[in-house]
Amino acid sequence: MTQNYDAIIVGGGLIGLSTAYGLVRRGHSCLVLDASDTDFRAARGNFGLVWVQGKGTGFSAYADWTMRSSELWPELRDELQEQNGQSLGLEQEGGLHICLSQAEFDSRKESLDLLRSHQNGRFSYEMLDRKALLDMQPDLGPDVVGGSWCPHDGHVNPLYLLRSLHDCLLKKGGSVIVDAKVSAITYQQSLFDVTSTQGRFYAPRLILAAGLGNRTLAPMVGLEQPVRPQKGHILVTQKTDKLIKLPMTQLRQTAEGSIMIGDSKEEVGFDISSSADVTAQIASRAQRTLPALKNQHIIRSWAALRVMSPDGNPIYDQSASHPGAYAITCHSGVTLAAAHCFDLASDIEAGCLGIGLQPFSERRFHVPA
Ligand SMILES: Cc1cc2nc3c(=O)[nH]c(=O)nc-3n(C[C@H](O)[C@H](O)[C@H](O)COP(=O)(O)OP(=O)(O)OC[C@H]3O[C@@H](n4cnc5c(N)ncnc54)[C@H](O)[C@@H]3O)c2cc1C
Repeated sequence: MTQNYDAIIVGGGLIGLSTAYGLVRRGHSCLVLDASDTDFRAARGNFGLVWVQGKGTGFSAYADWTMRSSELWPELRDELQEQNGQSLGLEQEGGLHICLSQAEFDSRKESLDLLRSHQNGRFSYEMLDRKALLDMQPDLGPDVVGGSWCPHDGHVNPLYLLRSLHDCLLKKGGSVIVDAKVSAITYQQSLFDVTSTQGRFYAPRLILAAGLGNRTLAPMVGLEQPVRPQKGHILVTQKTDKLIKLPMTQLRQTAEGSIMIGDSKEEVGFDISSSADVTAQIASRAQRTLPALKNQHIIRSWAALRVMSPDGNPIYDQSASHPGAYAITCHSGVTLAAAHCFDLASDIEAGCLGIGLQPFSERRFHVPA
């Protein structure tokens, strides 16, 4: 048994590629094993927000981690763009969450006040009444009562991000093998022996980043990843003049001019079929927010599956029984790409998840309430 690589990463989505790129840029040889196009792939169907407001309410470690990633994002953008010349379309000039009733407004305020209270002033936001909101985003519909604004939020083209990570990983000497579904992992003499449909590979470090596939793979290295699918629909309009100034939780305009409208949250298992009822609800809310949207044609729509843990927060774990094995899942892999590339990869290089990631262990689900 000979070591082929310093690290094997299972899963070529945003988590796998950002972590692998982070290791390769530190000089480690990495192999990404990714299964097939027929898999459920969150990285190819998401909304593209780099989003801070609302993340980590009641879980301050997640709020800190999200903020950290948002701060690192310009560095990641500059590094990737410099290497392959592809603009990622990153804008971080703040974002809005729109409230269509007083009840929504009050509940939003309560939740963000809680978030701010445990962030020692690091997280800033403002609740805006309708008039103040109109100064930021004209042409809002009459149902909009107000909303929240957060200066840390932004958005990016998530497909350009995925491609750039992939290209830059290869440029720095990393390897990616596709159609390589991993079916077995054993551990002997400090090496992981990973069996895939493209052969067997060996490395002293193993990072499981297979999204929903982590549920099956994690027990092979003594870990648990109790993730479930949660369906989200997205609608895309034709390209149009600038209608949206700042990204919103459910609406954003891409650098090219399309408007993306999202995103539902459905507990329907492994089902990515489109539902007319759900898309109609999404379109209706979008039109109540911005009535000018009624003149736009929807040219594409899809549904994709989020990788959701029991409490909705990420899971980062390191195996005690299989030293060198890590398992990672989250449902904000765009936002966290910068933290994965810089900080998570640095922790993995050091051989230990940092103190800030300790609260994310799956063990939190076993603590009696
Ligand atoms: C509708 C929707 C909207 C979203 N919006 C946002 C957003 O605005 N901002 C944000 O930050 N995040 C958003 N997300 C979440 C984000 O897309 C994910 O967190 C991110 O893509 C990370 O995914 P991943 O790498 O864990 O998983 P995936 O992208 O699912 O990748 C997992 C990979 O593992 C491979 N795989 C699975 N099993 C195996 C196996 N046995 N062997 C080898 N390979 C395997 C799969 O083929 C796949 O390529 C959204 C997600 C959805 C679905």
